[in-house]
Amino acid sequence: MARLAIVGGGVAGLATAFCVRRRIEAGQLPGWAPGDVVVIEAAPRLGGFCVTERADGWLLDWGPNGFLDNEPATLRLVDELGLRASLRRATDAAGDRYLFLRGRLRPIPMRPGAFLRSDLLSLRGKLRLACEPLVPAKRDGADESVASFARRRVGDEFVSTLLDPMISGVYAGDVERLSLQGALPKMEALEREHGGLVRGMLARRRQARREGRAAAGPGGPGGVLHTFTDGIGALTERLARECGAALMTGCRVMAVRPRGAGRWRVEYAADQTAGAGTRDTTPERDARPAATGAVEVDQVVLACPAREAAAALAAWDEALAALLRAVEPAPIAVVSLGYDAAAFDGPRDGFGFLIPRKEGIRTLGVLWTSSFFPFQAPPGKVLLRVMIGGARDPGSAGLTDGEASRRALADVARTMGVRAEPELVRVFRYREGIPQYALGHRRRLLSLAERLVGLPGLHATGNSYRGISVNHCVKDAYETAGRIVAAAGREGVGA
Ligand SMILES: Cc1cc2nc3c(=O)[nH]c(=O)nc-3n(C[C@H](O)[C@H](O)[C@H](O)COP(=O)(O)OP(=O)(O)OC[C@H]3O[C@@H](n4cnc5c(N)ncnc54)[C@H](O)[C@@H]3O)c2cc1C
Repeated sequence: MARLAIVGGGVAGLATAFCVRRRIEAGQLPGWAPGDVVVIEAAPRLGGFCVTERADGWLLDWGPNGFLDNEPATLRLVDELGLRASLRRATDAAGDRYLFLRGRLRPIPMRPGAFLRSDLLSLRGKLRLACEPLVPAKRDGADESVASFARRRVGDEFVSTLLDPMISGVYAGDVERLSLQGALPKMEALEREHGGLVRGMLARRRQARREGRAAAGPGGPGGVLHTFTDGIGALTERLARECGAALMTGCRVMAVRPRGAGRWRVEYAADQTAGAGTRDTTPERDARPAATGAVEVDQVVLACPAREAAAALAAWDEALAALLRAVEPAPIAVVSLGYDAAAFDGPRDGFGFLIPRKEGIRTLGVLWTSSFFPFQAPPGKVLLRVMIGGARDPGSAGLTDGEASRRALADVARTMGVRAEPELVRVFRYREGIPQYALGHRRRLLSLAERLVGLPGLHATGNSYRGISVNHCVKDAYETAGRIVAAAGREGVGA
């Protein structure tokens, strides 16, 4: 008997299935067997964004190229899956980052003194930055955009030169529209708890010293990038093998409805051709289903993008659907370019570079993948990943593979001076790529949590809610498994 349906077979859904399996084995879900869990995935294959293609010695990640080693939940999962031996750490080159500014690549110094001596900001911009500790803290608790926060604290030039490309690099986002509380909660906390960024970072550093660990940067937790010998796709492949759940692919969930007596009905349309022949994993809304089906279960985990979850719930709970619909995705395309090292002309030692929008270039940034993960290219070859799109370039959602690769080649020529023909070109396009946490995101999450309390057995996880990284998805998967156990306990008590 199916007890749990997980909608979406990306890292969030698969990790949840695996964590539930562990709970079953630990006796926390009496009467459940791993096969009572079904993962229903719209695309013809599992993994969501976490997929790695292998081709003639190249490792080509569809989406994430790794995760930082500072999230205990991910390291725990790696161990529980027996993947520790295949973990690969980025080389030290990953610490060297560049900015394409005023027509050329410039290193971004990581130490404050070197940064102030660099030519990234004008004297005026540096003075404004140096005044940060004197800026009074905003303490009204109201949300604001990332740009508004940073403009107040460090000035406009810092925003347009550094923050804008950094936010594009992580969120493919728009600094003017992203919520500070939703997207950069740690930065918001520095001001709320310590009165400012410099004061907060110094306080953090003191605390880290007391606890004998390395301090994090202002926006996040620091950490070293890792992947696996076979690329990040190894994580979802192993999860799919080890989660013990029934796995359905090519089945797009159309509706999730309460059935009374604590049961849920999950209706799906099977379309084995959905997404085939294209690397755009965004399921086609208008794809004609070949067949339909349904499962009835005690609990449902929505591990698909929030907008898909909204579509599945809208028929019976429009208020809940509206909360979910507010998390809009930004389009993103990754163009992987492989070159012979001899033909390759230009700097390529480091993590790569970002491009502020004011440079007037459509590419968001370029990762020098084979510099920090040398095993992802054959010996003597160079692998670049060019990112195009983002919230401020909605038109990029309509790019064809050919247009995206021509754009990538033109921008690589302009920024890095690389004019050689690549030996390899692969385009991975996502019309609905990275979820954007818009103003009011935290408030909406609270409303969502309140609403779900009244709907026992319905859960939402994945990158639409509490963080967009692989680490966030894994951490939330463990927590979701805990909520599933709690909900099952309540069923037992009520039965
Ligand atoms: C280009 C790119 C680069 C990135 N780089 C990094 C990085 O370096 N490090 C990092 O930590 N993170 C990175 N991320 C973010 C990270 O990849 C994602 O946040 C994470 O993989 C999301 O996992 P998920 O399971 O929540 O969602 P997804 O991977 O989107 O999985 C959701 C699944 O649900 C399925 N689905 C959708 N609708 C339905 C439906 N109606 N019925 C059934 N199934 C449905 C989809 O087909 C999909 O497989 C990157 C993302 C992208 C796009």
